[in-house]
Amino acid sequence: MATPLSAAKMLAALKAEGLTVHEHAGWKTHNRDAASGKSFGPVIGVLIHHTGGHNDKELCYKGRSDLPGPLCHAWLGKTAGLWMIGNGRTNHAGYADIDVLNALREEKPLPHDDAATADGNDCLYGLEIENLGKSGDPYPNAQYRQAVLWAAAICRAHGWSEKSVAGHKECQPGKIDPSFDMDDFRAAVKKQLAVEPGKTEPTKPAGKPRVDLSRLVKAAKTDPGAKQGHVSYMAGTNLT
Ligand SMILES: [Zn+2]
Repeated sequence: MATPLSAAKMLAALKAEGLTVHEHAGWKTHNRDAASGKSFGPVIGVLIHHTGGHNDKELCYKGRSDLPGPLCHAWLGKTAGLWMIGNGRTNHAGYADIDVLNALREEKPLPHDDAATADGNDCLYGLEIENLGKSGDPYPNAQYRQAVLWAAAICRAHGWSEKSVAGHKECQPGKIDPSFDMDDFRAAVKKQLAVEPGKTEPTKPAGKPRVDLSRLVKAAKTDPGAKQGHVSYMAGTNLT
């Protein structure tokens, strides 16, 4: 539990970690606190997303007709770099599993998410990474590296470990983002936190999500008569 970083402290932390930071006009006062009547914080961790699209920085700032912006705290372009989008409460996490939020707060291993009843926008910083999240859309190494640095910078500023980092797919049933392996991502954040901020530490490329074997086993049991080509549990076996 911690008080959210001020805009100035956030900028300082990100730059100290070695990031080049771009600022969207108005980001320092762009949030949902007044509109929702709920203030941001205390904060307990950071949440990683992919956008599911391309060229969506402005969408993340303005929001959609059904979901007002900001839709994240920062947007990370495929090649456009890291952009500050919001400061305060932002609409990125929606409802989350309270057990997962409690585990993040206590820096314990994350339990399986099977509910979405707790407000995740209250307590999580959110990064939206520009990526289709399907069809094997790759994360350039430089982009993935910046995502690791973003998470590490915030963890370092709060005195958190990599166990305060989660993917949206780990917090809310039905979500598949981000489309890379979060254990690999946390390992990279841990490695970064072990060195002085600003030091260059190579980060391994984004890891493919591991296949959820439990669903494969279930599919084998429940679909014995399925024709070849029948798709069982697409979300568990094919996340591209
Ligand atoms: Zn998401």
